[in-house]
Amino acid sequence: MIDLYDLDEQGLRDLMAAWGQPAFRAGQIRRWLYEHDVTDVDEMTNLSKALRARLAAETRIGSLAVDIEQPSRDGTIKRLYRCADGRRIETVLMPYRSGRRTVCVSTQAGCAMGCAFCATGQMGFERHLTRGEIVEQVQRYAAKMRADGDRLSNVVLMGMGEPFHNYDAVLGAIRGIMQDVGIGARHITVSTVGLVPMIRRFAEEGLQVTLAVSLHSVDDAHRSAMMPINRRWPVSELMAACRDYAQATGRRVTFEWALIAGDNDDEATALALAKTLRGLPCHVNLIPLNPTRGFDGRPTDDPAASRFVATLAEHGIPATVRVRRGLDIDAGCGQLRDRADQEQAASPPA
Ligand code: SAH
Ligand code: SF4
Repeated sequence: MIDLYDLDEQGLRDLMAAWGQPAFRAGQIRRWLYEHDVTDVDEMTNLSKALRARLAAETRIGSLAVDIEQPSRDGTIKRLYRCADGRRIETVLMPYRSGRRTVCVSTQAGCAMGCAFCATGQMGFERHLTRGEIVEQVQRYAAKMRADGDRLSNVVLMGMGEPFHNYDAVLGAIRGIMQDVGIGARHITVSTVGLVPMIRRFAEEGLQVTLAVSLHSVDDAHRSAMMPINRRWPVSELMAACRDYAQATGRRVTFEWALIAGDNDDEATALALAKTLRGLPCHVNLIPLNPTRGFDGRPTDDPAASRFVATLAEHGIPATVRVRRGLDIDAGCGQLRDRADQEQAASPPA
């Protein structure tokens, strides 16, 4: 069964050619999928009945079923989707007062990187998502926003999974999000734990996508203890790749820093971070730690977070404390899925 969300424009053209259809059918189908947001081939009324029947028999439009949908008081909507094989993944929509509408999508079920503080890391790796499964997460919110008279404006690949561990599907999905769903590269951010060779490869794709790097520490021993990937690619190699990314793309690099009380939130740490980032066009996103079951750390309080920002600012490093969104609905990476798994284990379906 072919998932139409797995096919780019050329893929649709190839399919139509293989079926003996004229090439313009591909364009028609693409408009139905991404402009009219149809999810049933019978709605593709300008296609012949025979073509619709064949599409219905041999293809599908997506594969994700909503398992749980949780709206939050701050407007955040979190969905737990069930994939065709039963795997569960999270997608979060975050509306901002500025009018920005950002969707955060998953790139894998689970994650192999094993970061100690992360609910997804604590689950382990299940499998890579396909291009279609990643595009569908975006398309479904784009369609919902359109139906509401609104518009999805930004995409962050920052949900469950490590995007650069699933490089080809993620690159295909990013191209699909740009060319099919219609979100510009500058409104797309891909977040990585720091897979250095993939950062270098991504820099060569010629895209204007924002790179976000999860740093959390600039001390190798400390970072390796939290993030096993650091043993393979230490801070110095990671920073060199980030500098090259900024140079190659002309884009500022975003650094993610989960503030953990008494661990990586003191003045000396802020100074060390500022020194590491000196001269690199960047922005630091500080996120007070979301507590997770498997990690014994507490979030930094607001005054300490503000001091951290001030120290970075004194050294010319722009930083903001990210508002923690949707906390009442477990909107941290992997947290909704984690809680749903716990509940299921406590009361297995009859
Ligand atoms: N695998 C990618 C993208 C998904 S994780 C990456 O690691 O960058 C998205 C972001 O959430 C990362 O910056 C990650 O470090 C951060 N994160 C994970 N668990 C967190 C927690 N418990 N509290 C705060 N941030 C967390
Ligand atoms: Fe994977 Fe990112 Fe979580 Fe690390 S923080 S375990 S890379 S999802």
